[in-house]
Amino acid sequence: ERERLYLGFDFGTSGARFAVIDIGGTIQAEAKRHYPLYSNGESRDWVRSWKETLFLLLQDIPPNLRKHIVSISIDGTSATTIILDSDTGEPLCRPFLYNETCSEALPAVKSIAPPNHTVCSATSTLCKLVSWWNRDGLNEKSALLLHQADWLLWLLHGKLGVSDYNNALKVGYDPEADSYPSWLISQPYSHLLPSVVAPGTPIACLKEELRNKFGFQKECVVCTGTTDSIAAFLAARVTQPGKAVTSLGSTLAIKLLSNTRVEDSRFGVYSHRLDDKWLVGGASNTGGAVLRQLFTDDQLKKLSEQINPSQISLLDYYPLPKAGERFPIADPDLAPRLLPRPENDAEYLHGILESIARIEEKGYGLLKELGATAVDQVFTAGGGANNEKWTKIRERVLGLPVSRANQTEAAYGTALLAIKGDQQNIL
Ligand code: ADP
Repeated sequence: ERERLYLGFDFGTSGARFAVIDIGGTIQAEAKRHYPLYSNGESRDWVRSWKETLFLLLQDIPPNLRKHIVSISIDGTSATTIILDSDTGEPLCRPFLYNETCSEALPAVKSIAPPNHTVCSATSTLCKLVSWWNRDGLNEKSALLLHQADWLLWLLHGKLGVSDYNNALKVGYDPEADSYPSWLISQPYSHLLPSVVAPGTPIACLKEELRNKFGFQKECVVCTGTTDSIAAFLAARVTQPGKAVTSLGSTLAIKLLSNTRVEDSRFGVYSHRLDDKWLVGGASNTGGAVLRQLFTDDQLKKLSEQINPSQISLLDYYPLPKAGERFPIADPDLAPRLLPRPENDAEYLHGILESIARIEEKGYGLLKELGATAVDQVFTAGGGANNEKWTKIRERVLGLPVSRANQTEAAYGTALLAIKGDQQNIL
């Protein structure tokens, strides 16, 4: 039997990666590229950088593997938005980046959306769409909105106008009803909205010219993607409600698989749909950034070795790089608390790690209070996942099994989506 391989791309904030995996999840090839710097007058030409990176990464895939790849998927940064000509696929203006704010459109969005809806944030895709509509909309008869991932996928399959319900959440798509809500459909710009299917749904075969140019096989399908942070969660292969992934990077982010959908804009908590379950998330400003202000990574390693994780630290801190917290405490003025500092640095670090663990515990507790499935096991991603003493402290504080996630690369997560797409391929 011929080997079947699956290709996932991750288009993150600083660069892009691919992963090629087999059906058992073993990585056959992977690589990363930074975005090349192109400018367009005074601003950066992101569309060109992304497109070029996609094709450079395709070339980076070992030629002997390409002919075995049967399915492809791509993730992009959430709320990165491209408005294009629906006849030609050419962008009508520069893209709106994930973190770009369109505050001028916020009052209009708030006036049509339900209170505290995900779109009621100046970075939402809908604010970007409304901002474009008010500026250029009346002059463009045939425009279409796509997210970064949708547009990159389109370069591969050529069928314009398809998105997934993870990327479409911030434009206002209702993943529970599986439709756009009536308050959005009734807007004069609603004809720009793409059609929406589940992540990992086959859209079309890889374009013939690309198949021939790169040596992919005839049956290779291109599937809808997701956002970069959801793809990173998918990489951990968490499939049971109650299982969660804590990301201990510069900040602390938690994501819990739940049977119920939970939203609370006060805490920045919202849920993404994952088939018949919900991925509930919250993000605290505590995390590794504070550790980096105090210690080098080398010091962190050496000091951690001196910690006895079964001993309770009574030092009670709230480590923040600057004032302000959203989750699990909603207080834009919350002050960092890192005093008193004991003379012994290992003791100090122990207190900080334990305090961050208590914030993590409070976070999972809050999700449960808000109605999510109770957490029963935690996997860890990010720089903090390598600290075994911290893991032991967290096990004690959370009262749950805690371990490292085997895979944490978003590209691995989209390769898993490509498997999903291949398994339901009826094209
Ligand atoms: P991000 O991608 O969010 O910048 P990473 O996942 O790369 O973060 O993790 C980097 C963070 O991990 C840094 O903030 C650093 O303080 C923290 N870190 C590095 N080594 C350790 C360690 N041994 N113990 C705890 N934290 C660590």
